[in-house]
Amino acid sequence: MTTLLIATYNAGKMREFRLLLAPLAVELCFPPDLGLQIEVAEDGMTYADNACKKARAYAQASGLPTLADDSGLEVDVLDGAPGIRSARYRPGSDADRIAALLAHLRDVPWERRTARFRCVVAVATPGGELYTAEGVCEGQIAFEPMGEGGFGYDPIFYLPEHGCTMAQLPETEKNRISHRARAVTAAIPLLRRLLVSD
Ligand code: IMP
Repeated sequence: MTTLLIATYNAGKMREFRLLLAPLAVELCFPPDLGLQIEVAEDGMTYADNACKKARAYAQASGLPTLADDSGLEVDVLDGAPGIRSARYRPGSDADRIAALLAHLRDVPWERRTARFRCVVAVATPGGELYTAEGVCEGQIAFEPMGEGGFGYDPIFYLPEHGCTMAQLPETEKNRISHRARAVTAAIPLLRRLLVSD
């Protein structure tokens, strides 16, 4: 069976990719499984730049087809920030970044708290092929964190159509509607072509 390397150390993303890629029936592995530790500076101008850089570096180092993602939270009233800098918005934990963002938006009324998660996945082959796919999920920034599920900014990402935050959704539902789910779904035909032989 073909093996696909998923270039992430983030436990939340690992779990989601395992579930999202289950329909492909390929073997998944992660950098720690291979003892791989590569520093890839996420200094690109776009999510796609960063995702491609990671996927390419890991595909070359491992000799395996590799999927990497880069994602971020875009808040309209902040002109799309923190966006590509979401992971570096504040030093510290996810809770620290959430507290900083809520403080920044303290006086912003509900109707102006619109935001979206965006995710770009890149797939690189050891032979040098490179592809990307994107997914977006629209919502609003809640006034306080709610829910224990997911990771990152999920507790403050409110989904009007569901009446709860991303962190309050059952895992299966997050994996149906999230930015990462949509990006992976868009990449599945390509992954099938690259990885699954008839
Ligand atoms: P990166 O894609 O690992 O660079 O993540 C960018 C930032 O967005 C980090 O702070 C992540 O915790 C956060 N993030 C990425 N994906 C999600 C998600 O699915 N839910 C909530 N936060 C996320």
